[in-house]
Amino acid sequence: SAKANGKGCYQLLTSELQQQAMSRLQLENDLRRAIQNQEFSLYYQPIIALSHSQKLGFEALIRWHHPQKGMIPPDQFIPVAEETGLIIELGWWVIKTALNQIEIWQEQFPGFSEIAINVNVAPQQLMLVSFSEQVQELFSHFKIKSHQIKFEITEGSLLKTGSHHIEALKRLKNLGIQFCIDDFGTGYSSLSRLHEFPIDTLKIDRSFVRQIGSNQGEIELIRTIITLAHGLGMDVVAEGIETKSQLNQLSLLGCEWGQGFLFSKPLNSIDATQYLVALLTSKWKQERVKALLM
Ligand code: C2E
Ligand code: MG
Ligand code: MG
Ligand code: MG
Repeated sequence: SAKANGKGCYQLLTSELQQQAMSRLQLENDLRRAIQNQEFSLYYQPIIALSHSQKLGFEALIRWHHPQKGMIPPDQFIPVAEETGLIIELGWWVIKTALNQIEIWQEQFPGFSEIAINVNVAPQQLMLVSFSEQVQELFSHFKIKSHQIKFEITEGSLLKTGSHHIEALKRLKNLGIQFCIDDFGTGYSSLSRLHEFPIDTLKIDRSFVRQIGSNQGEIELIRTIITLAHGLGMDVVAEGIETKSQLNQLSLLGCEWGQGFLFSKPLNSIDATQYLVALLTSKWKQERVKALLM
């Protein structure tokens, strides 16, 4: 009967919800264990200057090497880490590891002082009352310059900030630490508040870059974003560049930086070091960018 069917539906739903809750709980427990056992590593994806600048950046991207499930991508565990607050402990580990990597590269490649690493910072961590003090404390343990780290913050997380957070960001900014708006254009827009934040760089989301070539309207949108950024004194990174034609267009539009599989996928620290070696032992980068632009 209909009644029996309804009940069956309900049971199906609860068991599905139960299953979801179970696997969430399992993921949460797994995460706690993984933090204890240090099952994480940072990968580094090059951020290439499209101009003739010798600067080079990397974005640090976390990877979880699960003992049974293998590599778990961040999209599958960062949201849970954020909901449970575990992101804060994980976030400090990420910053510390990135600072350590910069210090190592600096020792390996003295004279090349322009290596910078972008670190994604979750809103929960950014809005800690002690965030700026703790960052300063961490920095005091490393022999690196503050401009070599850049915090990536999403639009959405900026929107959550109050004036006291903005003050804390400005204190860090005054120390030389830089900020980048991540995934620009995907959140609901904070255009009217954009100038309030001490932002150095705007990162155009990959969903825009992907449309280049198939959609002329998209190019106009990107042109507008770049003009806006430059007007506010920010430089621009385009993320998710996969084709030469995307690179060409972005370069023509005056975008300063590019990141994407066209240049390189995220690399583990050994491969990222190899990438640096190749870059520094030749005029490799200029040639590569030039070749790609042709
Ligand atoms: P995101 O910060 O926007 O990072 C860029 C993502 O785009 C990375 O995915 C990167 O591998 C991917 N990507 C870069 N170039 C290309 C391309 O040309 N094509 C395609 N298809 N993808 C490209 P990933 O590493 O899976 O990270 C996903 C998201 O997880 C990040 O997005 C970020 O929001 C979050 N995340 C990663 N690491 C951390 C971290 O250490 N802390 C926090 N809080 N979040 C992180
Ligand atoms: Mg990012
Ligand atoms: Mg991004
Ligand atoms: Mg993104």
